[in-house]
This record gives sequence, structure tokens and C-alpha cells, in this order.
Amino acid sequence: MSYLTHLECALTGETFPSEQLWNLAPSGKPLLARYDLKKVAAVWNRQDLAERPHTLWRYREVLPMRDFDNALSLGEGFTPLLPARRLGKALGFETLFIKDEGVNPTTSFKARGMAVAVSRARELGATALSAPSAGNAAGAMSAYAAIAGLPAFVFMPRDVPIAFIGECRALGASVTLVDGLITDCGRLAAEGVRTHNRFDLSTLKEPYRLEGKKTMGYELAEQMDWTLPDVIIYPTGGGTGLIGMWKAFAEMVELGWVSGGKLPRMVCVQAEGCAPMVRAFEKGDRFAEPWQNGKTAADGLRVPAAVGDFLILRALRESNGTAVAVSDGAMISAAGEIGRSEGIFPSPEGGATLAAFHDLRRSGWIKDGERVVLFNTGSGHKYAHLWAEDSRA
Ligand SMILES: *Cc1c(COP(=O)(O)O)cnc(C)c1O
Repeated sequence: MSYLTHLECALTGETFPSEQLWNLAPSGKPLLARYDLKKVAAVWNRQDLAERPHTLWRYREVLPMRDFDNALSLGEGFTPLLPARRLGKALGFETLFIKDEGVNPTTSFKARGMAVAVSRARELGATALSAPSAGNAAGAMSAYAAIAGLPAFVFMPRDVPIAFIGECRALGASVTLVDGLITDCGRLAAEGVRTHNRFDLSTLKEPYRLEGKKTMGYELAEQMDWTLPDVIIYPTGGGTGLIGMWKAFAEMVELGWVSGGKLPRMVCVQAEGCAPMVRAFEKGDRFAEPWQNGKTAADGLRVPAAVGDFLILRALRESNGTAVAVSDGAMISAAGEIGRSEGIFPSPEGGATLAAFHDLRRSGWIKDGERVVLFNTGSGHKYAHLWAEDSRA
């Protein structure tokens, strides 16, 4: 069973009942799911996991479903944590790991968030789903909507790579191509939400995509034998993965599953052409100013304003982490390095983590012997055009 007790406004701490559909809190900020962790600690042992399915649903005590028979699954989560041996050797740094999220359903970690959010939305009575998206979120929503038997409405900028559009259509979603930016898509999607009673699954505008993504934190601990790495490098758009893992670490400390002494330093990587979090981190701001005219080939990082900005910045500071911007050229070249040495075709976002690693090694921020995990958040297949037109290929 689930031990979900209530929702809590991430800004004000105000609490709300969890057994109804919610989007943002009245403050306009995200709602976070809270569990009775004392009870969970009393009834659930790490050893019990041995018999659980190899999907994110293995962590069900800290997931929100009332009835797990209604949990939708395409095999999401439990992705490999690969020691990057050849790459590590070439770089003289042998404690480097890659968490390969590209092998998830619909080829990105967006499947984690959508598996949980769509399952929960259906459980609470949603009858149609909606999301503006410039990338992988739309495909993941479409896939889980398909197995939920719910109609899905996707709003995408007309200039997104065709793989993203084709995927949603093949998965049965209704796709509206918008002449404009992701913010224009957001406006149109919001109109449909109001007039057609669709449930809005935008990043951090409902509480449960975060719960799906936090399972990356549980998995890392389980795969590292209940220790945590020294550094996690994460390509950050809306920030659900980073915020989610930081939440998972806090939960696991409370459960007594990991030691709270030395949690990983969280690194947020963004594209030089759209780096609102890096700028806000460097200025010491609590919230981030929206980025004007954001541009990058890494569609997952083209997020000029994140509703969870203060949660990203807080996690970076609490963890003694940092924020790094890398160029598109550097991420694509680093993606090739991962490909040639480790046999993984990473998304440019995944490449960005290695580009940031190079910068942080050069500056001495990452020290010899530290255990570092790079998150390849998606597969390169939907971005194959970036290589097809390149003489480097
Ligand atoms: C969405 C996305 C990101 C950014 O994820 P957030 O958790 O929202 O910051 C990174 N990489 C890929 C491949 C994505 O699709």
C-alpha cells in the first residue's frame, strides 16, 4: 500500500488533502507529496526489494497510488548504472558512472514521471490529458495515455524535430503544432484545459511527475549498495529530476536507508544559450529571472523559466553543488566521446553532463577518486539529425 498522507506547498509549507486532482498550490508554486515515513520505516526493509518487479514501481511504499493494481507500466525505471571504464581510463578518472535513462520506454526518463503522473491522474478521475512540450515529455505522456485509455493532447512548437512529433502521433495523441515558442504552446494548452476539462501534466504543475522521477535517487542508492556517489551531474530543464533525487535522498535518510552525513553534491548543467539556473545560482538569487530567446539543440534544456526554480537552487546550495553552462558544440562532441567509448548513443543533454565534467575536472572542483554519476537522461535517437548533418559523423 501507499503511505501518502498529504500534499504540501513547496513555498509556504501549507498542507492540502491528497485524494483529489491538484495542479499548482494557491501560491502558484509546486505541491510536494508527503508520506508517513515513520510507518514506512517500520514496515519496509530494503531487503524486501529483492522480490520486487524491475520497474520503478518496486518503490511503491513511497509512491502515491491508492491501488497499485491501477499502476500503468511499460517497464520504466531500473535502468543500468554503467561503470564508464573505457572513458574513465582515457580521462585518467576511473570512478565515473553513467546512469543510462535512454533505455526507458519512449527513450527518456520522462517515462518515469509520466508513468506515475498518468496512473495517479486516472486514479483520481482525470478523463483527458494535456501537455505543452518541446521534446520527450509529450511522447511519454502519449504512451501512458494510450495504455490508460485516455485521450492525450499535445502542443508543440512547429520546429521541433520530427521524431518527437511522429512519436506522439503514432502513440495516438492529438498533436497541435504551434507557430511560436514553448510559452505559446503553454498558452494554447491552458485554453484547452479550461474549456475541455483536460488535466494539465506540465512539469511540476502537478505533484506526481516528481514522484516518478525521484525513483532515480532510490535506484542509485540501491545500485550502489546503499551508498551514494560524491557528485551527480544532471542536465537541468524544469529540474524535476534534480529536485526529485534530492527529495529521495531526504526520504531515505529519514528511513535510515542511507547516511545523511555526506549527500551527493548536485550539479545542474544547462546550455549556454538557455541558462537561467546557472545565472541565478551565480548571482545568489533565490528565484531565477526568465531567460530571453533561449536557444539550444538540446530540447530538454530549452526551458527559459522553471516553476520549481527555487527548489533547484535550494538543492544546489544545500548539497554544496554547483551550476555549469556548456555550449551546444561541447555537448555534441562529448556525446560522441560517450558513444565511441561506452557504446551508448546519448542525447545532447546526456553529452552535456560529460562536457560539464570536463570543466569541473579542469577547475579542480571534482577531485581524484570521487565517485561521479553522469545522467544520460535520454537516447540520442530522436536527435539523430544533429549527427546526420555533421561531417564529424
Ligand atoms: C526533459 C529533459 C531534460 C530536463 O529534465 P528536467 O528534469 O525537467 O530538468 C533533460 N534531458 C532530456 C533528454 C529531457 O527530455
